[in-house]
Amino acid sequence: MNAKLIVVGAAGRMGKRILSLAIEAGQFGIIAAVERKDHPDIGKDAGLLAGTGPIDLKLGSAYPSGADVLIDFSQPAVADCTLDYCLENAAALVLGTTGLGDKQQEKNKAASAKIPLIYGTNMSVGMNVLFALVGKLALMLGEDYDIEIVEQHHRFKKDAPSGSALTLAKNICSATGRSFPDCLTHGRSGKDALRQKGTIGIHAVRAGDITGIHSVIFSTLGETVTLNHTAHSRDTFARGALRAAKWLTGKKPASYSMANVLGLK
Ligand code: NAD
Repeated sequence: MNAKLIVVGAAGRMGKRILSLAIEAGQFGIIAAVERKDHPDIGKDAGLLAGTGPIDLKLGSAYPSGADVLIDFSQPAVADCTLDYCLENAAALVLGTTGLGDKQQEKNKAASAKIPLIYGTNMSVGMNVLFALVGKLALMLGEDYDIEIVEQHHRFKKDAPSGSALTLAKNICSATGRSFPDCLTHGRSGKDALRQKGTIGIHAVRAGDITGIHSVIFSTLGETVTLNHTAHSRDTFARGALRAAKWLTGKKPASYSMANVLGLK
């Protein structure tokens, strides 16, 4: 039987693609498409909004009981409500919203003792392989390589730097013994902005409709190695989220990652 799915943030850029691909794949029973109460499209058919044709399910603001799994790509303030629902209904959660504060991360951690949960700042396969590689590369190249991360996103993105840039930095730090986030330098300006040895520079570009580009630059005197990931469209994240939701449904309570879903660890 298909897992019962609720999509939260359903009329957003990601929510619409998740709904559309879920409808197309036919592997879930979509029981709700949840949006904020005052969203102008509340009451409209969720399938029509997602561009697939009517599915006889209206965009609403309530979470109906009985879901097996939720996919939430909305806003940090919504995560609490989604998490409470999952705890009450013993539902699995794929949380893709970025920019969560430390308090919310703690709540996620506590909840994962009771429900299966994946929190992923980037659900694409390629980026998760990059997450797994980046620390190994830093270690192999050694201390003399300066590391800078440049991320580029569309003008509508609220948080900066991107969650993925932070995950890349965190993975480099844990592989090389740097202290995260103390070793990060966010942008650089002024007369006394000389690069400090051992730091990781992070730079956030916001322009136009760029879906997402991450570059990790390792440079020393004489050569540069760059790892680069480009997302061509949001579908790569939506497909990853649906793959994660399918994998996670019915798993025992724990905090999992896309690396688990993809068999990378
Ligand atoms: P968006 O602004 O287009 O969509 C967010 C949606 O959430 C909006 O439609 C908004 O109305 C809705 N929302 C607000 N309050 C709500 C509430 N109380 N209940 C339900 N819905 C509510 O943004 P987006 O580009 O779709 O991105 C959403 C989030 O996903 C962001 O945090 C973004 O950074 C993140 N994201 C993550 C990944 C990943 O792979 N993890 C990829 C892309 C985007």
